[in-house]
Amino acid sequence: MTDQPPAEFLEFIRNYNCGHCNADTMEIYKDDAGLWHGNPVHEDGCPVKTGAVSSVPDSVRALPPGARWRRDG
Ligand SMILES: [Zn+2]
Repeated sequence: MTDQPPAEFLEFIRNYNCGHCNADTMEIYKDDAGLWHGNPVHEDGCPVKTGAVSSVPDSVRALPPGARWRRDG
């Protein structure tokens, strides 16, 4: 049984760069529902890590072109 993240997800992980610190890696894990998640590894004091700034813009920039996110993909 293979249990690898989808290629689009891995590309998203590779593309991610925090706009506020040097974070460019994520810890990835699969939840009980079978969805893959990536937690960016921010530096201490990063405003994204503290919640002062949204991580959404950085995440959207990291999306592969044409990526679609589905539960059952
Ligand atoms: Zn950061």
